[in-house]
Amino acid sequence: MSARDFVEKDYYAALGVPKEATAAEIKKSYRKLAAAHHPDRNPGGEERFKEISEAYDVLSDETKRREYDEGRALFAGGGGSRGFDPSDLFGQARGGGGFSDVFSGLFGNGTRGRAAPRRGGDLETAITISFADALQGTQVSLRLSTPGTCSTCHGSGAAPGTSPVTCSVCQGLGVISRNQGSFSFAEPCRTCRGTGKEVTTPCPTCHGSGQQTKDRTITARVPAGVADGQKIRLKGKGSPGEPGAPAGDLIVVVTVAPHPVYGRSGNHVTLTVPVTFTEAALGANISIPTPDGTVTLKVPPGTRSGRTFRVAGKGFPTKTGAGDLRVTVEVDVPHELTPEEKAALEAYAEVSAHDPRKHLKEVVL
Ligand SMILES: [Zn+2]
Ligand SMILES: [Zn+2]
Repeated sequence: MSARDFVEKDYYAALGVPKEATAAEIKKSYRKLAAAHHPDRNPGGEERFKEISEAYDVLSDETKRREYDEGRALFAGGGGSRGFDPSDLFGQARGGGGFSDVFSGLFGNGTRGRAAPRRGGDLETAITISFADALQGTQVSLRLSTPGTCSTCHGSGAAPGTSPVTCSVCQGLGVISRNQGSFSFAEPCRTCRGTGKEVTTPCPTCHGSGQQTKDRTITARVPAGVADGQKIRLKGKGSPGEPGAPAGDLIVVVTVAPHPVYGRSGNHVTLTVPVTFTEAALGANISIPTPDGTVTLKVPPGTRSGRTFRVAGKGFPTKTGAGDLRVTVEVDVPHELTPEEKAALEAYAEVSAHDPRKHLKEVVL
């Protein structure tokens, strides 16, 4: 019986009970109908009796009933139109959970007769790199202790010199049919877990699982410009898949260590440069560090504290060109003054006409 036939049957109607009927109600209705339609008493009623038995077989089993309900709910969404083939969904849903999970207990795989080998799982690991490495890109060696393909049997699970044989329980189909009254269920073979192959002499290293915990060293390229918290996906470097299926991915979560002086804003490197009052007022050429060498920043006379200068191309690289180095100057006021400094500043104050609070004097609320 196909998945489609299954969900297109209305077992509730067959038993004459509502969809939310309790187990007791279902049982009661079944007994009444089965007695009334039993072929012994009712010759020619075989078809109807079969229908009732079939419906009761599913609805009286909590698990089967749930799967049936879920299946119907799913088909109700995309169905309605004739020519909609639920078996198409098996292919699409494979590996994605959802649909195939709902039906796996009932049908195994309705289309291919065998469960497809499963892709390996994704693994996640974390690294911390320096600010300079984030800026320039780097390569890191990751040591991982993870499940890998067994090196003795190369994943087959069979001892060296032997090979897996066709499963004797399912004859290599990966599914077995279970007869339940008048119809049969196909379900994944438990002996071979749906692979169709059976290992008679298990590999001594992995005891037949085909997998082995291994210390692996993987070289990961961290691209220039990587941001703190960014995830890098290394395709095929995760857990190995079942024989014939691809490995999962390795996801590397990058933490960028903070730098003592540089910061980051988008793709720009930021730097705060303290200047003296006289440098800001008179102008100065200041030597500042950049990620690749020192440059001279020309601070023009009359520069206010907090002004930001842009050194083009010294930021994080992007596909459309590098960001900038953004230098913000901040006037630094000395905590203590020598008597000479004090005298000089007092002389300056004496002659200065600069009134920074002029605009506050006329303020009215
Ligand atoms: Zn092995
Ligand atoms: Zn089998």
